Amino acid sequence: MNISRRFFMKTSAVAVGGAVSAKAGTAKAESRSRAPADPFGCLVDLTQCVGCRKCEQACNEVNHLPEPKVAFDDSRVLDCKRRPDQNAFTVVNRYYPGKKDEQNRLIPAYAKIQCMHCQDPACVSACIVGALTKQENGAVIYDKSKCIGCRYCMVACPFGIPAYEYDQPFTPEVRKCTYCFERISKEGGKPGCASVCPVEAITFGKRDTVLALAKDKIKKDPGRYINKVYGEEEVGGASWMYISEHPFEKLGFLTLPKKPLPTLPETIQHTMFKFLWAPITLFAALAGGMWVFNRRQMTGEDISEERGADNE
Ligand code: SF4
Ligand code: SF4
Ligand code: SF4
Repeated sequence: MNISRRFFMKTSAVAVGGAVSAKAGTAKAESRSRAPADPFGCLVDLTQCVGCRKCEQACNEVNHLPEPKVAFDDSRVLDCKRRPDQNAFTVVNRYYPGKKDEQNRLIPAYAKIQCMHCQDPACVSACIVGALTKQENGAVIYDKSKCIGCRYCMVACPFGIPAYEYDQPFTPEVRKCTYCFERISKEGGKPGCASVCPVEAITFGKRDTVLALAKDKIKKDPGRYINKVYGEEEVGGASWMYISEHPFEKLGFLTLPKKPLPTLPETIQHTMFKFLWAPITLFAALAGGMWVFNRRQMTGEDISEERGADNE
């Protein structure tokens, strides 16, 4: 068969080199900070939360989620620890961190959890098709039309937040708190959960403003609060932040580094380039090389130069 190996290898090498270096460039660009300059933020004052679950109910309503199995006013739900899932973007859990009342009964504490809308979100770094994006207003939003269902976002999230609709065989989606993106994009709009809390445990505003409020509350009442704002610095900071009278680890919050975690998802991406994308790119390039070569043969184009060079 009159195939010039040198021509073929040269064509393929150029194509592969170009494709791989383009991918590597993309991966490098992914590691830059995505933190917006002036995002919104939510401060949850856990000393005020009474565990009423009105925030869960409001979230359910504004996001048109299915009815819960147990009614929102049934506090027995609090007997078990729950995680947000595809049908509940936020949940409230009850803890007993050890403090007792005059009758020697343990005093409960409550913590509402949802997507933290990280400043430098690992889920966004992990998403190889850009289905998750960090917006200027602080929201991390999901575009189902781009999602390929790889679920790397679920692996990457340090808070274990994104859920997947395994029960939807044809059009499964990744589901999580949206930060009520549509609502907060409107002038004066607030997330559903923040606007309904009967004891105003959730304060919504610019992140800088609510962070300053958190620090001011701690400074003015050091007997009431521990000296920490959870979410200020964890994995690079988040749009959702918390203050508490109890150590956060007693309320189910993970102890996390200050540094953002795009390292993990980017390692996944690099591994994919190494073990998956590179072969795919190689096969595509080889196919391209074959097509160009065959076309030149069919059109009678002179390939004697390569043939001759091959015989050298
Ligand atoms: S609505 Fe407010 S008080 Fe009630 S559980 Fe939610 S955060 Fe706590
Ligand atoms: S909490 Fe998880 S899902 Fe939410 S923005 Fe951060 S990394 Fe993404
Ligand atoms: S911000 Fe919106 S989507 Fe997120 S927990 Fe609150 S109500 Fe639900």
